Amino acid sequence: MGVQQETGVGSEELEVWIDQDLCTGDGICAQYAPEVFELDIDGLAYVKSADDELLQAKGATTPVPLPLLTDVVDSARECPGDCIHVRRVSDSVEIYGPDAE
Ligand code: SF4
Repeated sequence: MGVQQETGVGSEELEVWIDQDLCTGDGICAQYAPEVFELDIDGLAYVKSADDELLQAKGATTPVPLPLLTDVVDSARECPGDCIHVRRVSDSVEIYGPDAE
């Protein structure tokens, strides 16, 4: 799906975080990218670390593996809470999500 070409992101490292205060707990992100997102017992979505550990701190960030970029971006686009933020690691500029330009 040409996501990188569309945006000129190239191979820059990206990371993703969730604003749990806005999460509706519908689980769409965990369906799209279960390697990256998971619902915790509080019913809200959290990101997982590269070694598959659920990061239970609100607003925790995790790297976006390049092969999963499309799934993560689709999650951000479909997220009913508008609370999935994908940003560049180098300067923290949001590339996909509610705060992207
Ligand atoms: S898609 Fe958005 S609102 Fe739905 S569970 Fe994931 S982070 Fe929460």
